[in-house]
Amino acid sequence: MTALPLDLQRGACPALSAPMMTGDGLLARISLIETISPGQLAHICRLALTHGNGMVDISARGNLQVRGLSETSAPRLDADVRAMNLPLREGLAIEVPPLAGMDDSEIADPRPLAEAIREASRDIKGLAPKMVVVVDGGGVLRLSDLLADIRLVAVGKHDWKLLLGGTEQSARVFNVLRETFVVDTVTDLLKRLAGLGNKARGRDLTSGLAVNDTAPHTPTSSSGLSRGSAGVATVDPSQMLGTSPSMTTGNAAASPFELFVLSDGLHAIGIGPAFAQANAEHLITLCDQATRLGITSLKPALDHSLLFFGTEIACRALRAYAETNGFVTFATDPRSHIAACSGSPACNSATIATHEIAAAAAAECADLLDGSFKLHVTGCQKGCAHPQPAALAICGTADRVSLIAQGKAADEPFAFSSFADTNATLRRLADLVGSERRPGENSAACLARIGSDRLAAVATGRP
Ligand code: SF4
Repeated sequence: MTALPLDLQRGACPALSAPMMTGDGLLARISLIETISPGQLAHICRLALTHGNGMVDISARGNLQVRGLSETSAPRLDADVRAMNLPLREGLAIEVPPLAGMDDSEIADPRPLAEAIREASRDIKGLAPKMVVVVDGGGVLRLSDLLADIRLVAVGKHDWKLLLGGTEQSARVFNVLRETFVVDTVTDLLKRLAGLGNKARGRDLTSGLAVNDTAPHTPTSSSGLSRGSAGVATVDPSQMLGTSPSMTTGNAAASPFELFVLSDGLHAIGIGPAFAQANAEHLITLCDQATRLGITSLKPALDHSLLFFGTEIACRALRAYAETNGFVTFATDPRSHIAACSGSPACNSATIATHEIAAAAAAECADLLDGSFKLHVTGCQKGCAHPQPAALAICGTADRVSLIAQGKAADEPFAFSSFADTNATLRRLADLVGSERRPGENSAACLARIGSDRLAAVATGRP
């Protein structure tokens, strides 16, 4: 694996008041902790047209991103957004699933715990800018696949598994705690991270901890951390009655592109722009239609989606409208299984038109895109759209396209393709998976089994 050069490493979060420079100008992020109205989202889109280049992203974590800002327009966007009195997140990112508190299937409502951690950690200074705490109460839409420095997963009504670093599957279990000890333990971990400096991340606390070791005993790790320190009530994992299989195996979370039945007869419909990016005018028409249908609240959510809340009739009607207007509305839409950055021509760093390649891939390789992995299509090695490894990635370089298996955009390619041959190469790989797939095997598993050597032979047309 090739290390990512320092200047390509992902920097600080592009927050609203500290926008990040990208290939198409400054990018400002709007992070919300509650729902907003369709009218408010439409107003944000109008601000994106006034101050930016009119393109609005919805990030994998469910943040709105306004693109194409300048040094003078970014502060104006900041002021105009703040004047809207939106429920903006300030400080440490503490995330809960988008249906938290409305989902009858969740094990525990994570919002009170998240709020208590937010309050207790308010004065901790010096944390890494991208530090994330996830509090996941279970339920139908989970945050399992998102990276987190500290993750709490409900394993009982009042019991929480605490994990450090990575996704839920790759993270290391720190402990299983009674709820009354969670806030103090998380605050202590955050203080330790702050003490290690503003580059320290949750994974830096894991040395000496066994991977996915759920034992409740309390050895002191080589990092100096003691799982289950004095006074912390731990839980015997064998006593975790009511824990669903996905809670213990870290299975992938469900797609947001569904119709959800929530508490008290409320429904939610997940809708998203293709490849996470919408023209602001296009999004305004969707918001206007939602308002006409009587939908009063929405929330940007995981997997580049918008969750609209309303009656079943209104949600179904909005989905029909969105579908005919090119939005992603179903989990089976192959476009929802592709992570593509802005690419060319929007981003100056890009050497390929990522959205064109992704659209062709969705149309021509639907069998390959079965939802078992994200096809990563990136304009350069920075890999903005998918920081995690992907089963298959296509990356623009100065004079051609590199193909990477089981890795990040900057990792060692297994093959190269000319720009012109990119989609034909993808079709050959999709055909290979189609012919090699075993009964019950998904595309990700099949790609991994086939391996880089055979993928390279087929990609390059070698016999
Ligand atoms: S990954 Fe894509 S959006 Fe990010 S800098 Fe590279 S080309 Fe631009």
